[in-house]
Amino acid sequence: GDKRLEELNVADTTCGYCAVGCRFDLYSDGEEILAARPTEDEDAPINGISTCVKGKFGYDFINSDDRLTAPLVRDESGQFREATWDEALSRVADGLGEIRDTHGGEALSVIASSKATNEENYLMGKFARQVLQTNSIDNCNRLCHSSTVAALGQTYGYGAASISTDDLEIADCILLTGSNTTEAHPVLATQIKQNVRDGADLLVFDPREIQMAEYASQYTQVKPGYDAVWINGITRYIIEHDLYDETFVAEQTTGFEEVQESVEEFTPDRVEKITGVSHDEIASAAEMIADADGCVFGWTLGLTEHSHGTENVIAMANLAAITGNLGKPGAGVSPFRGQNNVQGGGGDMGPLPDNFPGYQDIADDDVRAKFEDAWDCEIDPEYGYYTTQMFLEAAEDNIRGMYIIGENSALSEPGVNHAEDVLENLDFLVVQDLFVTETAKYADVVLPASSFVEKTGTFTNTDRTVQMVNKVMEPKGDSRPDWIILQELANRMGRSWDYDSTAEVMDEINSLTPIYGGVSHERVKENGGLQWPCWDMDHPGTVRLYEDEFNTDNGKVNLKGVGYSEPAETPTEEYPLTLTTGRVLYQYHTGTMTHREEGIMQYNPSDFVEINPATAAGMGISGGDPVRIESRRGETVVPAQITDRVGPENVFVPIHFTESAINRLTDEEHLDPTAATPEYKVSAVRVEPADAD
Ligand code: SF4
Repeated sequence: GDKRLEELNVADTTCGYCAVGCRFDLYSDGEEILAARPTEDEDAPINGISTCVKGKFGYDFINSDDRLTAPLVRDESGQFREATWDEALSRVADGLGEIRDTHGGEALSVIASSKATNEENYLMGKFARQVLQTNSIDNCNRLCHSSTVAALGQTYGYGAASISTDDLEIADCILLTGSNTTEAHPVLATQIKQNVRDGADLLVFDPREIQMAEYASQYTQVKPGYDAVWINGITRYIIEHDLYDETFVAEQTTGFEEVQESVEEFTPDRVEKITGVSHDEIASAAEMIADADGCVFGWTLGLTEHSHGTENVIAMANLAAITGNLGKPGAGVSPFRGQNNVQGGGGDMGPLPDNFPGYQDIADDDVRAKFEDAWDCEIDPEYGYYTTQMFLEAAEDNIRGMYIIGENSALSEPGVNHAEDVLENLDFLVVQDLFVTETAKYADVVLPASSFVEKTGTFTNTDRTVQMVNKVMEPKGDSRPDWIILQELANRMGRSWDYDSTAEVMDEINSLTPIYGGVSHERVKENGGLQWPCWDMDHPGTVRLYEDEFNTDNGKVNLKGVGYSEPAETPTEEYPLTLTTGRVLYQYHTGTMTHREEGIMQYNPSDFVEINPATAAGMGISGGDPVRIESRRGETVVPAQITDRVGPENVFVPIHFTESAINRLTDEEHLDPTAATPEYKVSAVRVEPADAD
């Protein structure tokens, strides 16, 4: 409208799309978001005054016509009808309560939401353990960086980035792998490109010649599924040529000999044979890393979404440690986290089957006693199921009811055909979301949640910065913030929660979670953000991890040897190509939000499969032709995009689209043995023109 800015509501808030954690002021007229502008004092710690297209324009979804504004329940004929909150909450309390009382809490599971605030995720964990009496609570981190969290936890002590975002701007060298940074973390990509213009070296290892490759000192095309091999090859070269940091290794690590022995088998010839990476490429990368004063190792899901993702990340952690690239400016590891609050809500807050908030192990008797006392309940010391396991267990009737919050499992789980069967057959399913997602279609009750612009709380971004999310408008229709829904359900199921605000929830979190010990809403506001660990109310937060010591029993890095592993599926005559999946800039995850953005859909409205020209020519496929892609688990048809961005043995399909539902083809069974992460990045497939029957 014609309203002037000063007549509008304004809130300084944190972006709800990705985990870069940009802060800006959002303006609304009470009904819709009209503008995103740099924060008044331009002091946003992560992004300064920059934002990307999603943060700037991605708000149509809030007022979209299909936004849920009232609860839905199924009527006698099996159709959804609108219901009052009272009726819907009673049905949920009865449905979940009956399963708990008949089969025990372990027959229930919860999928928490990394889109929601820290406070809400803390309450989801408390609700699962205290009210539902189950440890089977997990979230989307299982499908992405859980292998990172496990690997960095084992080697360094914290499953998080060691660096601050600023380190990307001052590093001498940056190694990126399995990260399409320009499209998935746009503002970080801008910071990296600026540093490269100022003279930093950039190494890009990726199966696709992504845009970052244009800025790279060295781009190396790798074969999907063999990352530990080339990483170990670099480590071997560095040790063999005495390029490692001897002082750091001697003083701050254990296990060096084990690594030295384990990399021995990764000779240049063997590395080249397995991965296609040449000896020269290994040598020049190793020299660049060793020459740099500081190197940052950045990665995302190309490294982690494998049946041996934890090993891949351990190999990377070894490389960073033996080159002494930890605990100093411009050096460290940076797993770029995906969803806006997956670091905080998906990890730190402990909606996890094995951890309480702050990565406190539920099997530890003292820790468990602390939470049993605070939450006034008994907690089983046995770990619950990971998300991927929940779907396998539900198929065996070991899980009978699910409460899915802000997660679109019917598109995002590996092996979607299997996930659909599971959702269909549950005794009771509650879905809490902004829309009737593909998952909500299977629900008994759908509860309408509020978006991040309609509530107050905190998000924790990819570099561990806790920042405020401030409400700029009232919840749409009859929707409610997750924390209010959870409180009402807990109280209907026999508890007496009485939080007046999420600030009060944060006070409970800081009393139980040492790494958040000094985090309160008041302090986050005062400081503009606080990086954990933040031990107490006088602690300034931690810009960079491991400046003094590592968070392990002996205070040192536990180096670990990692041998050779193959992807679960390798090409065969029947399925000769390798499918890999990923993101594009203008879309976000399963598209629940971005598909409702007119401005965004103009840029990249439809699906595609990238095929190398040689491969396409061999099959008589031209650009735009419909192509059938088939794996052992399912098939889909999408138009071809002919490009040498992918190698001749690979094809690439983005993950965002309902029509292709590419996860019909991915594998739900072969999970990382440590972290239960699925192997989204490698599926053996067959490709043919769609009219070739
Ligand atoms: Fe939001 Fe990420 Fe874009 Fe920043 S880079 S505006 S956090 S989507």
